[in-house]
Amino acid sequence: MVSDLLAKAKEARLRAHAPYSGFIVGAAVESVDGEVAVGANMENACYRLGVCAEQSALTAAQQAFGLENVARVLVIGGPADESQPSVGPVTPCGGCRQAIAEAAQLSGRNIEILCCDREGEETLTTSIAELLPSAFSLD
Ligand SMILES: [Zn+2]
Repeated sequence: MVSDLLAKAKEARLRAHAPYSGFIVGAAVESVDGEVAVGANMENACYRLGVCAEQSALTAAQQAFGLENVARVLVIGGPADESQPSVGPVTPCGGCRQAIAEAAQLSGRNIEILCCDREGEETLTTSIAELLPSAFSLD
């Protein structure tokens, strides 16, 4: 259910570690059976070691139910500082698109992607095939 997925991603977002950018993101990955794995971005003083919320959630999903069973990914993000304006729906970065494409290739299915603003009110519904056409793969 989308509202459940949104609630879990919102909760995960609040556990992000992003002291450098102040931009916190949560992601919830849903399996074909309705199981959910979550993640949030985790930055590091050594900037290049930072991990996106989607990658973090996909790692948890692999452990929980396997990448080949991923059906849907919901991403929610925005400035941690609530006095800052929200920035509209947050879409996965190029690297995360490639990571989601890996899961899609394993299952042979397209994966739905729901991109939300910080409040979860403004949403863009798309898919990995739409966000990353001609993805790099073993094929
Ligand atoms: Zn990313």
